[in-house]
Amino acid sequence: MKKGRYSGSKNILIIEDNDINRVQLTEILAQRYALHFTRDGKEAHDVLEELQDGVALVLADFKLMKQESFELIHQMRRMKVYRHTPIVLTSEASPADYAEYEKLEETGAQEEITDFLMKPFYRSIVLKRVESLILLYETTNIINALEKDALTGAYTKEFFYREVQNYLKENPEESLYMWVSDIEGLKIINEKYGIEMGDAIIRLQEKAREKVEGFLFGGRIEGDKLAALVQERAVPYIEELTQKADMGIEFPISKVVIRNGLYRIRKHTTLMAQGMYDRAILAINRIKDTYGIYLSVYNDVLKKDILAQRQVVENAETALEKRQFVVYYQPKFDLLNGKTGGAEALVRWISPEFGFMNPGVFIPLFEKSGFIRKLDYYVWEEVCREMKEWKESGKPTVPISVNVSRRDFEDENLAEKIIGLVDSYGIEHELFHIEVTESAYSDNPEQITKTVKAFHEAGFVVELDDFGAGYSSMSALSEMDIDILKLDMSIVQKDNPRAEKSVLECSMKLAKMLKFKIVAEGVETNEQVERISSLGGEYIQGFYYSKPIPKDEFERYLMKEQ
Ligand code: C2E
Ligand code: CA
Ligand code: CA
Repeated sequence: MKKGRYSGSKNILIIEDNDINRVQLTEILAQRYALHFTRDGKEAHDVLEELQDGVALVLADFKLMKQESFELIHQMRRMKVYRHTPIVLTSEASPADYAEYEKLEETGAQEEITDFLMKPFYRSIVLKRVESLILLYETTNIINALEKDALTGAYTKEFFYREVQNYLKENPEESLYMWVSDIEGLKIINEKYGIEMGDAIIRLQEKAREKVEGFLFGGRIEGDKLAALVQERAVPYIEELTQKADMGIEFPISKVVIRNGLYRIRKHTTLMAQGMYDRAILAINRIKDTYGIYLSVYNDVLKKDILAQRQVVENAETALEKRQFVVYYQPKFDLLNGKTGGAEALVRWISPEFGFMNPGVFIPLFEKSGFIRKLDYYVWEEVCREMKEWKESGKPTVPISVNVSRRDFEDENLAEKIIGLVDSYGIEHELFHIEVTESAYSDNPEQITKTVKAFHEAGFVVELDDFGAGYSSMSALSEMDIDILKLDMSIVQKDNPRAEKSVLECSMKLAKMLKFKIVAEGVETNEQVERISSLGGEYIQGFYYSKPIPKDEFERYLMKEQ
């Protein structure tokens, strides 16, 4: 039974057998949405099959969600089109229903449900909830549509890693390899023949790679580096292709040299996709500049390089004791009052052996080794110490944001630890902001949701970092108790104001609806400032205003402003 005024409006699937509820929902929703009423999971399944444009949201009566209907939800989550569709359970606010709901935890069904809506239905609540969930869903869809690299059609980095992880999880017994190839001197080709030539070479190369038997899917990791997950049967083909420097591809120019690296993935491995890629790159590095060899297979000899990385990690403990880690501050500019509205604390390692190092180099290693937890605590404490100093000497103070790594959440007492620390320095909680990266959410949603809630209840401001950087999860946004959304710099820098569906615009609209403030990161030009300002953004963080600067310089920066 279909109700709804306009054709072309979004579909909502409703599983509900009570006539009063049906009438109510019709009154509330039918003006704006095309409603499809069903009485059980089986009927609902038929509607899903039938609807060509898919459904934007499912409203399902909790009581009807007996075994078969939860089966429906499971099924939906397994289908690509419905993997993230909001599924909202409607229920009486009764203890019996709560008890039933708790039981769901065991079956894993809880995770597949997006939200709850209590009966009796109130018009404004239902409308608002439905509207914001649909917007949330659409925005994450738009962001996730960026999963393909425009030039080659291969996955972009984050998505590639994610797909590899998924594939391995589903096929733990298969013999697989990570295959990476790297064009030598692409920079020079770009300079000599133009970027178009460079692009054409990358594209042709991906095409050729995809033709190899056993090629599963590819990703473009960096400009000139293409990766792929391949089956074992691909290996002989790759060996044959890489007899030649140009892999036998007909490029418009001669003398293109491609180096290849292969990493054999162990069955049931615990290594992350990025680690496999790194190893394939290590293999390539070993044959750099070696004439006549274009394929290198990672083997245990290469573990030596990993040992070198380990050295960095081992040095870290001593470096911490010697206070070689230094906190820099990057101001956040408040667009509304035209002043500095805060700053982010970003760590640097100033080492006599390795020189000045940006965190991009060592943080990933520390995250792997677990040392990040010590370092983070050190940074938080440095920030507290410095904030206390500013306060006591009457210097200007602004809220400071610190980064909390995904690994920090392994500590069940994280919230208490930070509260204790901040209190021991007498810092007001609302001046201490906590940045949690969006991608951390998927590691351990429950733990993160719980800890973030505790931060929030203690009066800290919580910022969701790197929103839109890779795979965006709708649940992170709807379940985490956050105040501020930090838009990743890729969203800001890749923005096309003339595009029909600008990710920047959609994300900002979404943030407004969910009442989050916005920090736009990586703002480098005046046009970007104007654009964010015109869309109603609150804060800007980027080189346009200031790079991360040492403490003294930051103090002067604030003084000057006064
Ligand atoms: P993030 O948290 O996303 O920090 C923002 C990064 O963007 C900083 O890089 C900053 O220097 C850079 N940035 C800011 N404005 C611009 C701009 O206009 N253009 C460009 N191109 N870049 C801009 P940085 O300092 O190298 O830090 C990199 C990452 O390392 C951080 O990304 C964060 O994830 C991590 N990190 C830094 N300090 C810490 C720390 O104390 N603890 C933890 N766990 N992670 C940290
Ligand atoms: Ca951050
Ligand atoms: Ca960020």
